[in-house]
This record gives sequence, structure tokens and C-alpha cells, in this order.
Amino acid sequence: MIMRLADAPHPEPSSETGFAGNRLERRSEKRNADSAREALKDDRAHLYLFAEGRVLLKHDEEVFDPLFAPGEIVDLDVDLEEAVLLGFDIDETPVLAADSGIDREHLPHFIKAIDLRSVYTQGLVSADRLGAIAQASSLVSWNRTHRFCSRCGHQSEITDGGYKRACPNCEALHFPRTDPVVIMLALRTDADMCLLGRGPHFNEGMYSCLAGFVEPGETIENAVRRETEEEAGIRIGKVAYHASQPWPFPHTLMIGCHAEAETTEIRIDDDELEDCRWFARAEVRQMLDNTHPQGLRTPPMGAIAAHLIQAWVEENRVEDKE
Ligand SMILES: [Zn+2]
Repeated sequence: MIMRLADAPHPEPSSETGFAGNRLERRSEKRNADSAREALKDDRAHLYLFAEGRVLLKHDEEVFDPLFAPGEIVDLDVDLEEAVLLGFDIDETPVLAADSGIDREHLPHFIKAIDLRSVYTQGLVSADRLGAIAQASSLVSWNRTHRFCSRCGHQSEITDGGYKRACPNCEALHFPRTDPVVIMLALRTDADMCLLGRGPHFNEGMYSCLAGFVEPGETIENAVRRETEEEAGIRIGKVAYHASQPWPFPHTLMIGCHAEAETTEIRIDDDELEDCRWFARAEVRQMLDNTHPQGLRTPPMGAIAAHLIQAWVEENRVEDKE
């Protein structure tokens, strides 16, 4: 097998992160100017809807259903001209997404508008729906905020199921953004410890991996080195990719890496972090298991940070047995 492919883990670590499950077939090579319109003509078509940036969910107090049939949206002020085509479900059902112009106060009693973060943290929809909603939220949000051509200022037109906006004035084409962010777990080579920090807005007791946007003209590895140095004053040597995660707030791709720390003295960037320190493996295991005596903990398991941390803890567990 070529290079490291023989060692590639199965299942892929990315597939176990939140928002990664998405069973829709995108059929990107078949998208054209009429894709969304044609899909809406299909009797089986369903839509995810957003209002004021929140996900609309039908509910009967117990079950939350995020998919709407066209017949269910007539009173919801949905602009179908701006609908995006996400793809096709396993039974060929076209799945789309669109914004509703309705005020939250005027929603029918059986529809709730819930922010995506809460839909995710409270597990209100199944994992494969959550992945599709992430795709929908990122794409609808990009189209909502890119109505005008950034080259000439003219109003742009949606095309290719929302995966492109075309300017009728200067003919510029605009494509949806995906913003890469590196998130990394720095590990010491002289001791069995990893580097975790907490931002000022974190929930009480939570420590996580450091993270930051990849800048133009930068490799993933160099972004890991620069961000770790800037935020914690730690110099990084080797970097190894572990997993990625779509993070629809609004359209980020988290790129998770393990990194080898070449220095140990921490110098915190107070603007970014409230605290940052080295944690021993046994303590991190308690944080993962929610058994830490001071109540310290790592992010929930949907977050890629938790997977980076768990992969390191588990790797050591395997070594313990050998
Ligand atoms: Zn233009």
C-alpha cells in the first residue's frame, strides 16, 4: 500500500465528530442554473428552513422534525427563489433549504425556532440530519450574506443550487466559503502531558485544545505552529493530521492535529486565553470521564477537540498493556 494508507484508521476519526454524518448525495457535477427549481417540482421534495438564523423544527413536545414538505410552508414566507439544493436522500428525495421571513413570534404553535448550537448540544435531531442541517445552515447563511457582487456592487443571482452566485452586470462568479481552522493538541516528549487552555467564555471547568484560523498562503502545519506559539508561547516541531469536522458557525472546517512540543514554558496570550497549562494523562482521563475531583472537563464528545484528546489518552492506554 502506498505510503501511510495501510495505516489509515477505520472508521475514519472524522466520521465520529458532530456534524460529520450526512447521507445526502450531493451530485455536484450535475448542478446547473435550474437544479433547485427542478428539485422543487418533485412531489417528494423536502426543505430545511431557517428564520432569523435559527433552525425551524416541527414538534409535538417530544419529537422534533426539521424537514418540511412544500405544502407545509405556504404560510411561512419562504423565498423559494433563493432555495439551495443540498442533495438527494437514499430514496432519491430532493432535499433543499431556504430562509423563512417570518418573525419568530408569529410562528405556528407546532413550530419552534431553535439556534443550531442548541439543536446540536441537546441532540434534538439524528446525526445524519444534523450533518445535512450543518450543510444547509452554512450554504443558506453564505447566500443570505452575499446578495451583492463584491467586484461591482450589483445584485447577484443564485445559481447551481446555491453553490454559485453570478453577477449579471460584470459576469463575476462567486463561490461559497469554507474557512479552515486548525485545532491542535500539543504533546510533550519529555513527559506524558498535553497542552490545554480555556477561553474567557468557556463553560466553567472546561479546558480544550488551542485553535485558530489558517491564514492565506499558510500550510496547516505552519498554522498549527504559529497559533500555538502565539497563544501559549510553545514552539512546535512535528505536526500530524488526525481528523476534520464541519463546524457551521457559520462555515468553518475544523482541522484537528496532534503536535510535538519542543519547549515547555508557557507564555499565555491574555487576549485569547484565560488559562493554559500542561495536563498529565491521568488527569485528562478523569476530565474525559467526568470524574475529575475539581470538576474540570474536556468538551463534549461531538467536538473534534474531545476526539483529539481521547485519541491521545487511548493510545497511551494501548501502550500501557504492552
Ligand atoms: Zn459584478
